[in-house]
Amino acid sequence: MNKTAPILPGSTIGVLGSGQLGRMLAIAARQMGYRVAIFSPESDTPAGQSADREVVADYNDLAAVEAFAKSVDVVTFEFENIPYATAQAAAKHAIVRPDGAVLHTTQHRLREKVFLGTHNFHIAAFREVHTRAEVLQAFRDLGPGILKTAAFGYDGKGQAKILSETDVDQALAGDETVQRVYEELVVFEREISVIAARGADGSFAHWGVIENRHEDHILDLSISPASVSPTTYRDATEIAERVLTELGVVGVLCVEFFLTRDGAVIINELAPRPHNSGHFTIEACVTSQFEQQLRAVCGLPLGSTRQYQPAAMVQLLGKVWGSVEPRWQNACGMHDVHLHLYGKQPPRPARKMGHLTALGTTKEQAVEKVIAARKSL
Ligand code: AMP
Repeated sequence: MNKTAPILPGSTIGVLGSGQLGRMLAIAARQMGYRVAIFSPESDTPAGQSADREVVADYNDLAAVEAFAKSVDVVTFEFENIPYATAQAAAKHAIVRPDGAVLHTTQHRLREKVFLGTHNFHIAAFREVHTRAEVLQAFRDLGPGILKTAAFGYDGKGQAKILSETDVDQALAGDETVQRVYEELVVFEREISVIAARGADGSFAHWGVIENRHEDHILDLSISPASVSPTTYRDATEIAERVLTELGVVGVLCVEFFLTRDGAVIINELAPRPHNSGHFTIEACVTSQFEQQLRAVCGLPLGSTRQYQPAAMVQLLGKVWGSVEPRWQNACGMHDVHLHLYGKQPPRPARKMGHLTALGTTKEQAVEKVIAARKSL
C-alpha cells in the first residue's frame, strides 16, 4: 500500500455504511470520475443506489470485509457505528481514512469524553455509570443531567433526562449492566457546529460556524453562517482544528458545541464524517463537505470552502409524509430552494428521508424560505 501517492479519478472508493451520507459522498465521487463500492448489511440502500457496486454482507463478516477492501483503492466510512474490528480487517488490504483509531474513539461516548478531557477540551462534567446507585450519586454530585448509553447512540437514541431522582428508574429501564455516561445538563443559549477537513498532508479547512436547532434531539434546522461573535467564531474553529489534529483525522469531522450565555464553547460530541449540519455546503459553497471528504481520503489537495451565499437547511423526516406523497413540486417551484431525497422507504416518522436547502441574500431570508418550502409540501 502506497500511503503517499494520491488516489486519482478512475480509482474505486470503498464505503463502509450505506445511508444518506454515503449516498452524497458517492454522488460527489462519481462527479469526479471515481468508482464507488458500498459495503452494507442491507440492499438497495441510499448509498448503494448511487454507487457502482453494493456488497451486501454483515459488518462482522470479516472475510467479506477483507474481500471488499481488496477490491477497492481506499476505504472510508459514512457512519461511526461500524465495528472497530471491521475497520481493522479492511486496513489489512487497503488504506482506511480516517484511521480506524478515530472511529474507535468517536463511536463510544466514554472513550470520546476521556480523549477530549485528557486533551484539555472543554466538555460537560460527566461520570461513567452502570447501576442505579451510581446514577443517583452522579445526580447528587452533578445535578440535573442526561443519561446516555456509551455505545451506539445518536440523535438522542439511548438518552434520558434526569431532572429528579424519580426519573432514574424509568431511564435505566431495569438494565444496570449497560455502560452509560451521566452528563450534567448544559444550559446553553444555542447549539453550533464546525465541520472541518484535514488532508493527508495535514492541511486544514473548515466552513465556519453553523447554527443548529434540534427538535426531539434530532437536528431540524441549520443556518450558515451562524450569528456568533468574532471571539466565538475564533474559539470554535480553533477547537475544531485542534480536535482534528490531535485525533490525526484524515477526512471530514464535525464538532458539535453548546454555546452558553457567557460565551463558553463546550464540545457536545464529535462525528468523524460529514454531518447533516453541513448539507448546505452542496449548493452554497465552492467545495461541499462530501467532495472534501473525497479529496481528503484520496490524498488530493483540499478544496476552497468559500460560501457564495447565506444558506439554511431543514431536515425532511418521515413525519412530513401524510397519507399522500408530499407535494414536491411546491418546494421545487420556489426560487433558490433545492430538494434532496435519500431514496429510503418506508417514511417512518423520525426517519431522515431527505432535506431542503435554501439560499438567501441574508440568512434570515434563507431560513424563512426553507421553512416556507417545507410547509408547502
Ligand atoms: P447528542 O446525541 O448527545 O448529540 O444529543 C442530542 C441533543 O440532545 C443535543 O444536540 C442537545 O440538544 C441535547 N443534549 C445532549 N446532551 C445534552 C446536555 N448535556 N445538556 C443539554 N442538552 C443536551
